[in-house]
Amino acid sequence: MTFRFRGCDVGRIRRLLGGDYGVVDVETHVRIIEDAIGIFDDMGPVCLKKSWRLTYGNAETFGFERAELLLDGDHVVVRLLGRNEAALLREATTADPLYIHAYDVNERRTVYRIFKVGDYAQLLSKGVEASLRPTFKPRPGMNIFIVDVPIHVLTVDPIRGLFEDHARQYFVELHVTFTSDTCMICGGKMEKEGRRVRCGRCNISVDRDINACWGLARNILVRLGKESKVPLLRELFMQLLPRP
Ligand SMILES: [Zn+2]
Repeated sequence: MTFRFRGCDVGRIRRLLGGDYGVVDVETHVRIIEDAIGIFDDMGPVCLKKSWRLTYGNAETFGFERAELLLDGDHVVVRLLGRNEAALLREATTADPLYIHAYDVNERRTVYRIFKVGDYAQLLSKGVEASLRPTFKPRPGMNIFIVDVPIHVLTVDPIRGLFEDHARQYFVELHVTFTSDTCMICGGKMEKEGRRVRCGRCNISVDRDINACWGLARNILVRLGKESKVPLLRELFMQLLPRP
């Protein structure tokens, strides 16, 4: 799971890491305190951030042991690493183009979208599968595997195995709970209409699971500090939106 902190004392974090990047122990310099994440140096807390993802998910399920910290201007990117996860944050933030695999896994199906984001945004692949495994095809460049998956599904063997396989080599970003549906165009709140969602402002209507995939791709861009690429993704979304 990746988090972006604002308003931290960057000087203290740089001293802690001995530079702009480092891997630290969870429990020592990065701590999960109920539904918040804190960064600590030898003098005490440097920064604290509440996370709704931790409100609904139990961090112990993932066995976070280490965390990667990357300074990005006056922001700090923190990525919690599970037992088998490789430290890849630096590569993920510099990869160009960046491949984003966005999946929405629910009890019935896996809906996915694979994006290539560089000086442009491209939809490489899309579909619906019964399971995650056939949809994840590594590509040159950094693959970011983002999944919105109900937390109870993670304990089911086939899915857990997939995460363990892929986590060693790829940036795995987990969203372990429902994301509130947000409009890709205006950021407004989407209202549920059965399996679809509709934006009260733009009046666009999209399949709920497909909208979730786009939202995941946007979220990872923001967390990695690539907000400047979000308009490209939005433009692509509008191009692909079926005309009413
Ligand atoms: Zn809207």
